[in-house]
Amino acid sequence: MTTETKCTNSVTGRILVIDDSISVRRLLKARLGNEGLELLEAIDGPTGLKAAKEQSPDVILLDLSMPGMDGFQVLRQLKDDESTGNIPVLVLSGMQTPQDKVAAFDLGAIDFISKPFDLTELRARVRSALRLSELLQMLSQRAQIDGLTGLYNRAHYDRRWSEELAGSKRHDRPISLAIIDLDHFKSVNDTFGHPAGDTVIKGLGALLLEHSRESDVACRYGGEEFVLILPDTAPADGVAQCERIREALGKMTWARHPERKITCSIGIAGASAGTTLSAAEIMEAADKLLYQAKQGGRNRVVHVDLSPDALAKAG
Ligand SMILES: [Mg+2]
Repeated sequence: MTTETKCTNSVTGRILVIDDSISVRRLLKARLGNEGLELLEAIDGPTGLKAAKEQSPDVILLDLSMPGMDGFQVLRQLKDDESTGNIPVLVLSGMQTPQDKVAAFDLGAIDFISKPFDLTELRARVRSALRLSELLQMLSQRAQIDGLTGLYNRAHYDRRWSEELAGSKRHDRPISLAIIDLDHFKSVNDTFGHPAGDTVIKGLGALLLEHSRESDVACRYGGEEFVLILPDTAPADGVAQCERIREALGKMTWARHPERKITCSIGIAGASAGTTLSAAEIMEAADKLLYQAKQGGRNRVVHVDLSPDALAKAG
């Protein structure tokens, strides 16, 4: 989602047209293309589905009668796929029986435009669909953001950690997971009040972002616990990054309680190569190490490399 201001009469966006008729595609390209809308074209269902997945358009204009896979089948597959299910689809069709319209709406189309269409009306409907698309994106993003820190929340983490791990296995790349927990956080809340506790949570959240690379994923797992997904990072390299976070936090002075320093404990588990462990197993290992860090006196980083080679060396 871009942050640029958009006024309602000059909505920008990417529109995917899936229609076997070259004249319809040409007409739409000419008439929508000259008002800030980028037109992507697909000549049949399979090409359209591929383009929808790969190019993530904001809105799809879908013809119903196409040779081979018809628009109903395309619509069903678009809606069944998590990556395309939220893209608003406007059906564009010469079929005009009420049954066709009902079927299209039942499958999840948001609008039905009969051919031949009036271009002014079509433009207005496309703009309205673009505004809807923008709202849907905003809602789905907000649903994955932690309100206090602005980091990703646990719902995002649960999905993302599995995805990142799967990606690292596929490409045989290292990956690490750090669990970061504030030390004696309950006593900060009890002694200085919850607003002070919130400030500490926000402070650690900001540090995680500051010490993250673009590819890292920082999340608030819940309460005073955070997770940092470190793609392309062996556990030993993750230690250096986490030590910087631990040290920076320990040096911070807090306006509400300048006399009281705040520290954190960190457990890192991951694999420098070739792990077959599941997302849950690595998470559990990191959690155990966090516990060890707490038992060992807190304010420290403990890590393990779970790759078969590293485990063999460690005996
Ligand atoms: Mg057609």
